[in-house]
Amino acid sequence: MNLTSWGMYPSIKNKVYKLKSVSDLKQILENEKKYIPFGNGRSYGDSALNENIIFCRPYDCFIDFDENSGILHCQSGVMLSEILEIFVPKGWFLKITPGTKFITVGGAIASDVHGKNHHIEGCFSECVEEFRLMLPNGKTIICKKGDELFKATCGGMGLTGVILDAKIRLKKINSIYINQTTIKTTGRASTFESFVGVEKI
Ligand SMILES: Cc1cc2nc3c(=O)[nH]c(=O)nc-3n(C[C@H](O)[C@H](O)[C@H](O)COP(=O)(O)OP(=O)(O)OC[C@H]3O[C@@H](n4cnc5c(N)ncnc54)[C@H](O)[C@@H]3O)c2cc1C
Repeated sequence: MNLTSWGMYPSIKNKVYKLKSVSDLKQILENEKKYIPFGNGRSYGDSALNENIIFCRPYDCFIDFDENSGILHCQSGVMLSEILEIFVPKGWFLKITPGTKFITVGGAIASDVHGKNHHIEGCFSECVEEFRLMLPNGKTIICKKGDELFKATCGGMGLTGVILDAKIRLKKINSIYINQTTIKTTGRASTFESFVGVEKI
């Protein structure tokens, strides 16, 4: 198995370790000093590539969901598409979704991805309450919103350790349909004018 990223470049010969349990991972990290976590390989460049890869996608269980708070606890290999498939029919949506839903929760946190509503909701880390991280020395640590290691890991591109599982806050929705308003403009000037206050519609 040789994993590549979305752009299929560069191609690096790699040894793939499938993440299945915390104890297995601890053992892998004891033996391999040079590695990088890998989610679903939807990053464009070489950020998830190394000669040793911790393939997190198989670590994909849902752990808990609190219907009062909307907080979902799941393992880092769960894909956003899987969350949407289960929770949209129940009236819940992700606060932040990038241009592809085929990414893992771990990859979304590590790249701190953004959606088209970035100016309103911010990046993915805004909906992350906490996560469990395995440090390179094999120690497991819970990082809560606001902690230094939390901030360093959100957008840290897998360099602080392996995200094991995370608690993320989902958003309540009333319908699976999008409310849309179409504004017709007559030229560039009126198009730019129409942007002002458009968020309030
Ligand atoms: C068609 C398309 C559209 C996209 N649109 C957007 C967009 O609108 N907005 C946006 O922000 N991005 C966008 N992206 C980029 C994509 O969302 C990110 O690159 C995302 O991180 C990919 O997630 P992944 O699970 O595939 O992770 P990978 O690509 O496998 O890895 C990405 C990074 O996360 C790290 N990582 C993965 N899993 C873990 C883990 N468990 N623990 C620690 N680190 C980990 C890796 O080491 C690597 O640095 C798009 C990509 C594609 C292909």
